[in-house]
Amino acid sequence: MTPAAYLRLRRVAAGLSIGDVATVLAPRIANRRTAFALVRLWEADGVIAEPTDVIRLRAAFRFDVAVYRQLCEGPEDRHPRICTGCACSERDPCLSELAGTCGWASDTLCTRCEARSLRDAADWMDAAMGRTFMPEGLAA
Ligand SMILES: [Zn+2]
Ligand SMILES: [Zn+2]
Repeated sequence: MTPAAYLRLRRVAAGLSIGDVATVLAPRIANRRTAFALVRLWEADGVIAEPTDVIRLRAAFRFDVAVYRQLCEGPEDRHPRICTGCACSERDPCLSELAGTCGWASDTLCTRCEARSLRDAADWMDAAMGRTFMPEGLAA
């Protein structure tokens, strides 16, 4: 995973848009356009954020600074294990009031993301079945 993809997935997992993050980074509206451009830049593959910017970004959403650094500097075979769905890691797991912290469902997916993809699949099946069995004439 690239450092940029890591930041993007962690931001999305936190439920934030780039605009939301820009608002945290730049409380003054005059600076917000610059902040927005910066966040987009940091999420572009090949770009590595300055350490001071990484700390600022950490105020906006939860991610692990050490994991980010490893992705930037470490050789790929030494990269930490990261969920491909939400970029959580053992140092920075998903937290849920009901389920506690997530675990590994597979080599690349955490239990929270697996549960979500199963639910999505079930929703999709329901929708597909609804269409299949909808009597002629009732279908909108
Ligand atoms: Zn996950
Ligand atoms: Zn997780």
